Amino acid sequence: LRETAKPVDETELAIEGALRPTSLAEFVGQQKVRGQLQLLLDAARIQQRPADHILLSGPPGLGKTTLAMIVAHESNRPLRLSSGPAIQHAGDLAALLSSLTPGEVLFIDEVHRMARAAEEMLYLAMEDFRIDIMVGKGAGATSIPLDLAPFTLVGATTRSGLLPNPLRDRFGFTAHLEYYEPEELERVLKRSAAMLGVSVPAEPRAEIARRSRGTPRIANRLLRRVRDYLVVHGPSSGSGAAEADAETVDAALSLYDVDSIGLDRLDRAVLDMLVRRFRGGPVGLGTLAVAVGEEPETIESVVEPYLVRIGFMGRTPRGRIATPEAYAHLGVPRVESALR
Ligand code: ATP
Repeated sequence: LRETAKPVDETELAIEGALRPTSLAEFVGQQKVRGQLQLLLDAARIQQRPADHILLSGPPGLGKTTLAMIVAHESNRPLRLSSGPAIQHAGDLAALLSSLTPGEVLFIDEVHRMARAAEEMLYLAMEDFRIDIMVGKGAGATSIPLDLAPFTLVGATTRSGLLPNPLRDRFGFTAHLEYYEPEELERVLKRSAAMLGVSVPAEPRAEIARRSRGTPRIANRLLRRVRDYLVVHGPSSGSGAAEADAETVDAALSLYDVDSIGLDRLDRAVLDMLVRRFRGGPVGLGTLAVAVGEEPETIESVVEPYLVRIGFMGRTPRGRIATPEAYAHLGVPRVESALR
């Protein structure tokens, strides 16, 4: 294992980067989005122009950054990475946009968190490749138009509902990334395991996939924990091949609080709170977030989408509710909810 594993001093982030597919063909799942992107990129290539602006939405870890890199790679253009929270003034955006080279792909992660003034500047930039720079203050202020090199904006957001309509409308193509099916995650894991030099046969691989919350980033992370487990506890740790089996997977994942269906500590804390403290709801997002000591945004964009998707939680106009499946998973009898 040690011989085939990639350098031991790699940071988690570097490993995550190394595992990223670099072409649409290598990108697993999201078949519809892949087809749509392929057409968009092919048309741009044939017409020798930058591709239309692209908006990618969906929960974290489903491949938005990876797709932005693929867009740049497949169209053979450089890529510039930025994020909404880093663009807090119109000036930040003006500096960024005016330094782009022709055809460059600009990726703005968390595009819904950009400052309002920057957002307005972006409208014109996306539409006409032009910005107006304000010089001076008060009555003497004037605006100087500045032409930009044409570029492709790839915006990513976990909350497309928070994007103002004028901004959303300026993207030529919007893709919503869905959670992955376990079979797709198995393919992600197969590829990653080969790259990490760790041997995980089909059955334990399927088990990791089932416990990955439909998310490739989580699948890769759990795989690394299983690999760690093998390195430390594997029968042949230190030399030769050590294979993961059902027991290794369960031991490694239980150690990191990943339960039998892949819920993590925060998922379970939210469900537990909802079921026990709030008797199944309905309860408002803010109250729920305070009760588990997390930001409402984290609950709304990370925890909830998956719990809703697997049918454990429902959103109603009066607040969040727990479903019978959630009670069953936690092993709590449902009489409590009947009393509310
Ligand atoms: P965030 O919004 O939190 O940055 P993201 O949606 O941009 O998340 P990425 O950083 O692109 O997610 O992907 C996370 C990891 O998952 C990457 O290391 C990448 O290798 C892997 N990954 C994501 N999607 C796929 C896929 N379809 N096929 C193979 N690997 C994938």
